[in-house]
Order: sequence, then structure tokens, then C-alpha cells
Amino acid sequence: MRERERRRKENSQKRGYGRRQDFAPITLEWLFDRSIPEPNSGCFLWLAATSEKNGYAAVNIGRKTRRAHRVAYELANRETVPKGIDVCHKCDVRSCINPDHLFLGTRLDNMRDCVNKGRFKPLEPLSGEASPNSKLTDQDVIAIRADTRSQRAIARAYGVDKGTIAAIIQRRTWRHL
Ligand SMILES: [Zn+2]
Repeated sequence: MRERERRRKENSQKRGYGRRQDFAPITLEWLFDRSIPEPNSGCFLWLAATSEKNGYAAVNIGRKTRRAHRVAYELANRETVPKGIDVCHKCDVRSCINPDHLFLGTRLDNMRDCVNKGRFKPLEPLSGEASPNSKLTDQDVIAIRADTRSQRAIARAYGVDKGTIAAIIQRRTWRHL
């Protein structure tokens, strides 16, 4: 694992963190060149930079940083994926850019998928004055209902009280979801 990490780092330095010249049109080949096939899973693992925050393959296009798997999906399918629609991984490998492993889903699909795979990590508890007034989002509520931890633990994770969580789980509140 160490060795792989090191090689990955070296490669990403050599390859300039997925940076590309503005004038060169981005192609699937260009993307694939910066990935390595994983023989068992068929994943194309991104060798250039991945986002430190979320682990997705990142590519710089002009001044923008985009998710490389999203770009790969768009190129392979010759379509632009609209905002609000996620490009999700069947393989559950966030750094994979193999278009065959990608599918479109709404943000809620993706969230449910994450929860089902146990990948969802709720936000850090809010601190200070933000905490008692924190408003939950639709996505939070879906995640809370899928959460297998105790109500007390969930409440702590979201910075709300246990009664709020109980009401959500028993569908006394947020019944539209
Ligand atoms: Zn994959």
C-alpha cells in the first residue's frame, strides 16, 4: 500500500496533477492516459490529483477544477450532465474514471447509495451557537433514517436533540420524505 501511494504521488507529480493546456481539447484518451487499469475490478484508477476533501479524481480545465469521472462520463456518452445530477460509481471507487462503471443519479440517489454502502459520514457536530438552531436538510433526514446507530449517537452527530431524531425516524416529522 505504501509503495502504491508513493508511486501514485510520483506519477501525479510527473503528470502535473492532471493539469492540461487550455488549448488542447480534453479527450477520453487524455483522461485514460492518466489512469491505470485495475485488472480485477476493471476500474481505471486516476493517477493525477484527487480531491483531498472527497477523494474524487480531479482535473483542471482552464481555471476550473472538475471531477474527472464526470468529465469521462460526458465524453464517453457525448452529453453534458446537468447540474443537480450526479455521476455515480457502480464500483464504489471514487477515483475510478471508467465510463462503464458510471451511471447517472440524482443527488438523493447518490446519498442513499452512500448510506447503503455505509460510506456516509455525517458532518461534524456543530459547535457553539450554531448547534441548537441547526436546520436539517432533506438529505440529512434521509441519511438519519438509514443510519443504524443509536438515536443518541445520531443526535450528537447532527447537533440536534434526541427527540428531534426520534420524531424523524418515527415519521412524525419530515413526513414528505
Ligand atoms: Zn470502477
